Amino acid sequence: GPVILGPQQHGIDPKLLSNNAVRVTSTLQEAGFQAFVVGGAVRDLLLGVKPKDFDIATNATPEQVKRLFRRAFIIGKRFQIVHVMFGQDLLEVTTFRGPAVDNAPKDEHGRVLRDNTFGTQAEDAERRDFTVNAMYYNPATQEVLDYHGGIEDIRAKTLRIIGVPEARYREDPVRMLRVVRFAAKLQFTIEPHTAAPIRVMAPLINNVPAARVFDEMLKLLMSGQALACLQQLRKEGLHHGLLPLLDVVLEQPLGFKFVTLALDSTDRRIHAGKTVSPGFLFASLLWHQVLEKWNAYLAAGEFPIPALHQAADDVLDSQTEKLALQRKIGSDMRDIWAMQPRFERRTGKNPYKLLEHTRFRAGYDFLLLRCASGEIDAELGQWWTAFYEGDETVRENLVAGLH
Ligand code: ATP
Ligand code: MG
Repeated sequence: GPVILGPQQHGIDPKLLSNNAVRVTSTLQEAGFQAFVVGGAVRDLLLGVKPKDFDIATNATPEQVKRLFRRAFIIGKRFQIVHVMFGQDLLEVTTFRGPAVDNAPKDEHGRVLRDNTFGTQAEDAERRDFTVNAMYYNPATQEVLDYHGGIEDIRAKTLRIIGVPEARYREDPVRMLRVVRFAAKLQFTIEPHTAAPIRVMAPLINNVPAARVFDEMLKLLMSGQALACLQQLRKEGLHHGLLPLLDVVLEQPLGFKFVTLALDSTDRRIHAGKTVSPGFLFASLLWHQVLEKWNAYLAAGEFPIPALHQAADDVLDSQTEKLALQRKIGSDMRDIWAMQPRFERRTGKNPYKLLEHTRFRAGYDFLLLRCASGEIDAELGQWWTAFYEGDETVRENLVAGLH
């Protein structure tokens, strides 16, 4: 059985729990089911961090869960989960999962494609990725149930995969990206047996559907520790060949400064509680690839604006395939890039028109990054800051001052 820790032993502050998480577990428990907060939320609670979302694990089936809540939706094909909504708040409720059956469908590399078996809590714990992600908290009794030594690993700041590392990465190669993200985000070290196979097994990530890799990359880039994550990926040999985007980012000397600044500002925005647009982020990551192609089209005699559009198309086409960039993100990226030459036209009505562009703020922030990285003259950014912040007279003088 699991190690069970009471409130004195684990020290979780109940105030860090969301009311809705307690509402879901108590509703399930009052209906006679088991229900626990699980996974990343328990890990964060033990670290004294307020979890950003709460996952609930239960022995109730998805149908049984759905019946207990007014706004509950069964989602997912590979494994059904229930989304329970309270206003804007969403909680994921998952039925305990059983062991992957021996004849579960797999791809030719051993990746499990479908596994819909329910199981016991102990079996559920065994299927989770890392020991620190496999603990259960019961808000009613304030007990933590620990099946795999997660408490000790939390205390030692260690990420340890559950089971045989090679087998677990083969089942789901995304776990290699996850361990790197957690290491950077939590500032934990990866236990040696957990880290060892990654370098060799990294190419398996190529067989994972692009949309899943993209989701994981986005989590990584939005973790508030994007730079640290990228450095860690590099350290584990995970950046090479498997994520074309990262090759571009980490290996272009020109782009490196730019990307570093972009990620640093992303990290700072996240720590300040501001939003980050994926479009801006990916526009930054791929800008130097666009620049390179833009220059090639210019050298071939193309006019600047059509050359930029062609370069943007090329980059978006190649990345859309590999990263499954959503259409919306792609169009945001194109807007930000296409705006850049317009910042150079500072006469007449041009700057006033640009100011009215719906994405002006993103384009302007992007321009400032280009200045800060040394790609273009800082004067252009300073002029635009003065123009953007100035009143009517200041603006007229700025435009007139150019003549
Ligand atoms: P985050 O703070 O990024 O949300 P998390 O640990 O909550 O971290 P989720 O992706 O929300 O990560 O997953 C919730 C839980 O589901 C994990 O803690 C883990 O127990 C389990 N899990 C998620 N992905 C996997 C996976 N690929 N393999 C095994 N277990 C997983
Ligand atoms: Mg989570």
